Amino acid sequence: MKVLVTGGLGFIGSHTVVELQNEGFDVVIVDNLSNSSEEVLKGIVAITGKLPIFEKLDLRDKKSVQDFFQKHNDVKGVIHFAASKAVGESVENPLLYYENNIAALVYILQELEKKEEANFIFSSSCTVYGQAEVMPITENAPVQTAMSPYGNTKQIGEEIITEVTRVSNINAILLRYFNPIGSHPSAEIGELPLGVPQNLVPFITQTGFGLRKELSVFGDDYPTPDGTAIRDYIHVVDLAKAHVIALQRLLNKKNVEKVETFNLGTGKGSSVLEVIKSFEKVSGKKLPYKICPRREGDITEAYANTDKANNVLGWKAKSTLDEAMASAWKWEQKIRS
Ligand code: NAD
Repeated sequence: MKVLVTGGLGFIGSHTVVELQNEGFDVVIVDNLSNSSEEVLKGIVAITGKLPIFEKLDLRDKKSVQDFFQKHNDVKGVIHFAASKAVGESVENPLLYYENNIAALVYILQELEKKEEANFIFSSSCTVYGQAEVMPITENAPVQTAMSPYGNTKQIGEEIITEVTRVSNINAILLRYFNPIGSHPSAEIGELPLGVPQNLVPFITQTGFGLRKELSVFGDDYPTPDGTAIRDYIHVVDLAKAHVIALQRLLNKKNVEKVETFNLGTGKGSSVLEVIKSFEKVSGKKLPYKICPRREGDITEAYANTDKANNVLGWKAKSTLDEAMASAWKWEQKIRS
């Protein structure tokens, strides 16, 4: 069974390709290498023993997307990771984000709409909830006005998919990720941030390795037990496995609605200081950090209610924060050696 994974050489995409191949799927990766490298294919082969098909193309090019679906007309499912994801950059250059995250999505859906049957999985984010009033956050929590063009592309993307499924043969699952971290336990693939990492964990591992002087902890005066902000950190391998389960749900026609939405998190919130402690525990290193003022736009806390993913999707995150941090640290050491 052939599956298209857009952005399949990226962080979450590459881990999902591994899990798909482990389950026997034939994977075609589309990626323009804007935030990844062809080297990732070697890591995938090292883990699975199988080279996925790779088509280097830019999904912003409508003709390339049309040609791709003509060539691979036997694709049974699409998992759409390809997108730009830097919140700050999206504020500086909103149109880049609307083109890459929305225009490309539309071009793919236009091709899927022509099919008798199509299955589509979309990378959404817990950013759609903003600062939710109730913790843990259920899928029914209201979607709040986005705080950045990036966040807005996830909300608009969800809306476009919902509207298109109403009038087409496309069935879709929207997966709202909390905070993906870690790497494959083999350290053959992992997160490869370009430049200064935007996310906490790669910043921690780079600081632990001595590439950065110290970590800035933004705010220790939040209304949380230790004053630092709380997030739900999920191991990327757990997250990847959820995509395979979601795809099988659509392929086996087990979905009860044309569009279903699931939170993907652990259900447990961890503060920035707890993440630092976990890193120090698994690495045996002391992490230099300083407390800075809160960063504009940061919310106090977000962690998932995972009941729907557990009970309806039949998926549950298994890894602990320490396991995820240990894998992130192993990966950092591997890429620097
Ligand atoms: P990533 O940048 O590592 O992977 C995205 C991949 O898509 C890259 O390999 C990039 O080269 C490719 N790509 C981008 N634009 C493309 C285009 N026009 N044509 C072809 N390929 C293109 O990002 P990731 O962390 O793996 O995130 C995957 C998805 O999950 C994204 O949609 C992101 O918004 C979403 N998401 C990520 C997080 C996170 O913290 N990592 C959280 C929530 C949601």
